[in-house]
Amino acid sequence: MTPQLLFYILLGIIIAKFLFDTYLNALNAKHFNDEIPIELEGIYNKEEYQKSQNYKKVNYKFSLITSSFSIITTLLFFLFNGFYFVDEIAKGFSTNSIVITLIFFGIIIFASDILTIPFSYYKTFVIEEKFGFNKTTIKIFIFDKLKGWLMMAIVGGGILALITWFYQITTTNFWLYAWALVSVFSIFMNMFYSKLIVPLFNKQTLLEDGELKTAIENFSTKIGFKLDNIFVIDGSKRSTKANAYFSGFGSQKRITLFDTLINDLETEEIVAVLAHEVGHYKKRHIIYNLLLSLLLTGFTLYILSILVGNQTLSNALGVEQASFHIGLIAFGILYSPISEITSLFMNALSRKFEYQADDYAKNNFGSKPLISSLKKLSKNSLSNLTPNKLYVKIHYSHPTLSQRVINLKK
Ligand SMILES: [Zn+2]
Repeated sequence: MTPQLLFYILLGIIIAKFLFDTYLNALNAKHFNDEIPIELEGIYNKEEYQKSQNYKKVNYKFSLITSSFSIITTLLFFLFNGFYFVDEIAKGFSTNSIVITLIFFGIIIFASDILTIPFSYYKTFVIEEKFGFNKTTIKIFIFDKLKGWLMMAIVGGGILALITWFYQITTTNFWLYAWALVSVFSIFMNMFYSKLIVPLFNKQTLLEDGELKTAIENFSTKIGFKLDNIFVIDGSKRSTKANAYFSGFGSQKRITLFDTLINDLETEEIVAVLAHEVGHYKKRHIIYNLLLSLLLTGFTLYILSILVGNQTLSNALGVEQASFHIGLIAFGILYSPISEITSLFMNALSRKFEYQADDYAKNNFGSKPLISSLKKLSKNSLSNLTPNKLYVKIHYSHPTLSQRVINLKK
């Protein structure tokens, strides 16, 4: 294959992905005004539903603007040999290929993040603000960015440097070492994320004694599952939207409840949400997800190891001498159709897991409080009650509210 042809294939992949996403979003938007399914009637009054429909429309328009901006800048970068110029800048700093790789990705990631700041600012302080969700201050917004960059530089930079180094010393076999590194890191993060990373952004406190704690203890005795690591996180610092999640395993397992969730829901409903989370743990979803993502990572790294040193990849992006970082960029684009397919599969599996966790909550606690909590949470985040079927298949990690309610009522 000539570099010229590969260049057009890469462009084709980027454009096709944009067109497909845009089509899918438009398809989804066509259903914004559909009738509310019978099982969800009464969630909103007329005025509230109007508000939720406005929210969907505003977000749809906004995503159209951001994705158009993003594809235009990407195409311009491609057509004007952006990768070649950044490569030249990086080479100007050092002859060490690890340093070059770090500077190269540093520039690209940092620059694209800077370009998207106005959009995330608008999303938080105009759209979310207008609909009453935003609690973030400018100060929190700026510090979140800075902390995010610092973490990216240390963690992302460290991993990238090691992988580049593995490539240097072992070339074709580097994927095995990279896989081992990423696996150890993922397992470590899965276990200690709540202890190491979350505190940089949020305060977590053990759930205090009281009605809720007693109710949870009663439930935990009933199912014979130790639930002593329940934390409340100050999600209200940024947004009124509520959430709960399970993380870690073994001695590190814990359930985190947003303070907004505790404010929005009745005690029974919170225990139902918790029962759903315990369902994920009991059905080993956390372990399965971790193992699957490790397998996928191994597969991706293996394909990467076959392609990354290929001269044509670098030439296609206007760089004469094949190098790891340029190969990685070209590979990332070539691989994106495959990752669309794997994410389709992962989302389908995740939706299956959600049904299982709902069933667990239904059988061990009750469906009624879970239904009412799901409805409240959906209402409070103005979520879409009438999404398009294809859109759900491709993008949803959870079944739709109406699917979950129907399943819980079975
Ligand atoms: Zn779940």
